[in-house]
Order: sequence, then structure tokens, then C-alpha cells
Amino acid sequence: MVAPFLARRIWQRETFPVELSHCANCDFEFYNPRLELTEEMKLYHDYRESEYQKSRQETEPWYSEAFNKGLADEKRWTGRTGALGPVVKQALTGRKVASVLDFGGDRGELVDKLFPDAERFVYDISGVEPVAGVTALRSEEECKQRGFDVIVTSNLLEHVGFPLELMARINAIAAPNTLVLHDVPLESSLSAPMVARRVVQFGVLGVTRPKVAKSLMHGGWLRVMHEHVNYFSLKALNEMMRRAGWNVLSSGIYRIGAAPLGQPMLWNLSERAAV
Ligand SMILES: [Zn+2]
Repeated sequence: MVAPFLARRIWQRETFPVELSHCANCDFEFYNPRLELTEEMKLYHDYRESEYQKSRQETEPWYSEAFNKGLADEKRWTGRTGALGPVVKQALTGRKVASVLDFGGDRGELVDKLFPDAERFVYDISGVEPVAGVTALRSEEECKQRGFDVIVTSNLLEHVGFPLELMARINAIAAPNTLVLHDVPLESSLSAPMVARRVVQFGVLGVTRPKVAKSLMHGGWLRVMHEHVNYFSLKALNEMMRRAGWNVLSSGIYRIGAAPLGQPMLWNLSERAAV
């Protein structure tokens, strides 16, 4: 089932069933039908601003104002960049990194922390204001005017309906020597942390929003489609880059927070394949 919040925000309707497909070769999972760009715009416009938070809390009582604020919390960022920083540093050893674009990077917090010595840019459809020290580019045309040494996407690929189309858009922005760095959660619909979260949330809904809980009871509540419409494996991420016309330089798994509760993450650094 589609999360009631998504159904309302994107389609102005109550929840409905979707397919969840799984690739037996690479373990990639995706919800089908896919989100079109116009639907992504509706979902992510003014992302995590007041109206987003309020409407989300209507069907997800745990998504309070304080919780929403906590997502932008400095401590949370320290955890993220503390884990990713050394990975990126090692992967980019010996590479020139004078300018970086955070594609889909919200306020640009990540590149601001990871690349303090580079010129830092962010492009995001949410339209939110960037943090100090990061310049917002307002269109992909504007992005194309500059040649970046590195284009970063962080926690983006799991949100987009057509990752290969997204890579075509990044191709159009990249200069011949631009590197692309992806950072994406390692998830699957039936991994233990995912199931645990869904069970707790459904339990809360049953008590606080019985109508919403009932609307999900057609068998789909455990694998509800939320903002993550793709679940990547390392193999799937690397294969996607190859198909998009890139050479994978290095890739791997790292973890935000300690095992077993920490979130495992995937990263991939690629250069454009010679034509
Ligand atoms: Zn596959």
C-alpha cells in the first residue's frame, strides 16, 4: 500500500495498492508504478517545511514538529559526515576537488561539511534556502554553466522514480572529467530494521489513527511505499552506473552508527566511461 501521507500529498486521495518488484539478479527492489517528476515535485516542494510536517503528522502521529526539527539537528549531521567523511576522503585521494555540486542536496549541509575547502553548490527541487557557504543553483540549465570536479548525490537515488533518467540529467551537467559520488541507504523491504519500524508504526497507528490503520489492512501495511521508492544493493548501484555510461572507480558499504542498529549505507565513486 502507498503510505496515506504520500497518497494525499501527491494524488489527493486515500491509500491504494502498488506493486513491489524485486530483481533476482541484483536484489534491487522498486515500487511500481513509478513516481513521475511532476509527482516528485509535489512531494518534495517545501520539503520538511511547516505544511509538509503538519500534513504528514495527520496520518503519521510520530512525525511531530520536534521530530521534524530533529532531522536537521547538528548532532545528526555530525553522525552522518563523521561516517562518510573518511570514506570520501580516501576515495578522492589525489583528485582535484575545487568545486562540488550537491545534486538534490536540500540545503547543501552535506557538501558544506564534507568539502570545506571547495566551492560548494546545491541544486534541489525543494526550493529551500541553502546553508551559509553554499550557493543554490535554481535550474539544471544553471548547473550546466559550470564544470564541477565532483557531483554528489546523497540520499537521493532511493527517492526518484527513474534513477537512470536522473543519471542522464547528471550526465548533461557533468564535464568530461567530473566525478560522481553517490551515497544511498542499503535497504530491503524485509530487512529486520525495516520490518521492526513498520511493525512499531502500525501499532501506533492502530491505537492513535485506527481509521488510517484500517485503510492499510489489505495485506500491504508491512511493506508500505513511502518516500524511499527504491531499495538498493551494492550490486544494483554499481550496475546502474555502468548502464548510465560510467566506470565505477570504487564503491562499498559503510555504517552510520554502531551495528546492529546503525544504518548501513552504500557509496559509489565513478568517472565517465570513454565514448
Ligand atoms: Zn537487477
